[in-house]
Amino acid sequence: MNCEHDKPKEECGVFGILGSEDNAARLAFSGLRALQHRGQESCGITISNKISMKTYKALGLVTSVFNDGILDSLHGSSAIGHVRYSTTGSNHIKNAQPLTLSTQFGEIALAHNGNIMNAQELRLSLTRAGHRFESTADSEVILHLINQQASSLENAISNALNKLYGAYSLVVMTNNALIGIRDPFGLRPLCLGRLGKAYCLASESFALQSINATFIRDIAPGEMIIINETGIQSHQVVNTSKTCCCAFEYIYFAHPASTIDSINVEKSRFWMGQELAREYPIDADVVIPVPRSGRHAALGYASARRLPLEEALLKTTQYDRSFIQPAQPLRELVVTKTIKVQPEVIRSKRVILIDDSLVRGTTAVKLVKLIREAGAREVHLLIASPRVQFPCYYGIDIAEKAELIAAQMSVDKIREYLNADTLYYLSQAGLLRSVFSQDVCLACFNKRYPLKPRIPY
Ligand code: SF4
Repeated sequence: MNCEHDKPKEECGVFGILGSEDNAARLAFSGLRALQHRGQESCGITISNKISMKTYKALGLVTSVFNDGILDSLHGSSAIGHVRYSTTGSNHIKNAQPLTLSTQFGEIALAHNGNIMNAQELRLSLTRAGHRFESTADSEVILHLINQQASSLENAISNALNKLYGAYSLVVMTNNALIGIRDPFGLRPLCLGRLGKAYCLASESFALQSINATFIRDIAPGEMIIINETGIQSHQVVNTSKTCCCAFEYIYFAHPASTIDSINVEKSRFWMGQELAREYPIDADVVIPVPRSGRHAALGYASARRLPLEEALLKTTQYDRSFIQPAQPLRELVVTKTIKVQPEVIRSKRVILIDDSLVRGTTAVKLVKLIREAGAREVHLLIASPRVQFPCYYGIDIAEKAELIAAQMSVDKIREYLNADTLYYLSQAGLLRSVFSQDVCLACFNKRYPLKPRIPY
C-alpha cells in the first residue's frame, strides 16, 4: 500500500546557483535531489559558462537521469534546475524544464513552479504575433513574453510578469545573471542562500541545506532579485496586496526540514497535531501515524495527550513512479502493495490513526480495514487539516471536485464509508494557529481564492 497515491501532487521544484567555480551542475544535482518530493516525472539542469549554455533533461528521477559522466560534461559556474510533475502540458520530454530561448537579450533559461492561469490566451496572442512554441507547458509562455520589445532585460521581465495571471516561483538564468521571482501572493515558495561566494535560489530551504549553503531569506511576494558579479539587486516588479503562501506546503508538500516564510514545516505539523488534540481529546490506547505524511502531527497529538505513539504501519518502498498514472483503478492496485501492519502493536487496542489530509479517501479506507483486521478494538481517524472540498488552480494537482471525498459526502457519511469509529478534521482556525499566520492560502478548504479562477468553480 502506498499512502502517497491519495495525496495532492506538487507540480515542481526549482533551483539555481551563480558564482560557484566550475561545479554548478553538481550543486544543482544535489539541490534537485533534495527537491525530488516536489516532482518525480522529469528533471533537468541548464548550465552557463558565461558564454553559452548547455541543457540536459530527461524523464525520470534525478538520480536515474544524471550520472557522473553527464554531470562532468556540464561545465559552468552557473546553473538552474527543475524537477517536474505535470498537470499543465503532458508528461513528455519536450515539456521537461529548464526551458531555453535565444532572445534579443541573449540566451535565457527558465524553470517554473506554479500555474499560469491565462497561459492559453497569452499563447494565442503570442502565436498570432509570430512566436513559435516548442512545448505545451504554460511556462514557455513566460519566456516568449520576456522576448518582446523592451529597453532592458529587467524591463522585459517586469513587463512579462505584469501580463501573467497565476502562481509562479521562477528561476531565470542568462550568461551573466541569475534571477529569482515570486508571484504577487507568494503562493509558491522561493528562497535565497549563499555558499561561499556563490548565491543560490531554491523552492525550499532544505535544498540549500543539502549543499551546505546558508539560508539568507525568502523572496518576497512580487519581488524580483537579480544576482550577478556585482551583487544582488531587489525590485518590486508586481504590486502585491497580501502574502498568501500555500497552506499545503506546511501540511504535506514541503520537506519537514524546510522553513518557508519564517515558519518551520516540521514544527507547524507538530502543532497541527497539538491543535487536533486540543480540539478532539479522544480516549485511546495508542496513536499511529500514516507513514511519513501523518508522522509529525501524530507526534504532536501523542505528546499533547500523553499517549504512546507507535509506528505500526510500515512503508516498504521509498519512491514508486507509478503514482503518475492518473486512472483510479491503477491507484487502487498500487495502494495494496507497500504498507505492512504490525498486529502486535494494534491487537485489542483503541487506535487513533492520524494523517495530514484526506483527499479521495482511497488510502484511508484500506488503512482502517488493515488496522481492524489486525485486531484493533476501535479506530479513530484524525486529519491534521480541514476538509479539502475545492480544486487548486495554483500548481497543485489535488483532484477534480468530483473525486474529492469531502466535496461529495458529509463528515458522517465519510466516516461510515471509511468504517472508522470517529472521524475529525482540524479546523481552519486550528490550522492557522499551527502556522502562526493568517497569511496563507486556504482556498481548497474554503473556496476563498486569492486569484479568482477564470472558469466556473
Ligand atoms: S488552493 Fe490549496 S493547494 Fe492550492 S495553493 Fe491554495 S492552499 Fe495550496
